[in-house]
Amino acid sequence: MYDNDNIFAKIIKGQIPCKKVYEDEDVLFFEDINPVSKVHVLGIPKVKCVNFSEFIENNDKEIVANFFQKINLVVEKLGIKESGYRVISNSGNDGGQEVPHFHVHILGGERIGPKINS
Ligand code: 5GP
Repeated sequence: MYDNDNIFAKIIKGQIPCKKVYEDEDVLFFEDINPVSKVHVLGIPKVKCVNFSEFIENNDKEIVANFFQKINLVVEKLGIKESGYRVISNSGNDGGQEVPHFHVHILGGERIGPKINS
C-alpha cells in the first residue's frame, strides 16, 4: 500500500525542499540529503509506486523506459558518464529500503567501494 505522506511524495508535492538536478512532468532527480559519495543523486518517477517491482509491474512500458532514459540523461548532465558511476535501487527489508517510494541512487564522482549500497 502506497503511503501518500512518505518523504519523497512530499518532495514531489513541494512540501519538503530538495536540491533539484533535473525535473520534468514524469520524473524528479535531486541530491541525497546524506551523500555517501561525491556525487549522490536520487531519481524518482512521479507515479505512486512503493518499490522497483511495483514500478515495473504497474506501469506502461513507455513510462518505465522513459524513467531509465532519464537516468542516463542525468548521468550525462552530472558529467560522470565517462568516469563511471553506480545505479542502485534498494527494495524491501532485505534490500535496505528506507523510503517507500521507488527510487534509484546514482553514485559517482569517485571510486565507489565494493559493498556501498546507498
Ligand atoms: P533507501 O535506503 O530507501 O534506498 O534510500 C533513501 C535515501 O533517501 C537515503 O540515502 C537518505 O539519505 C535519503 N533521504 C531521506 N530523507 C531525505 C530528504 O528529506 N531529502 C533528501 N534529499 N534525501 C533524503
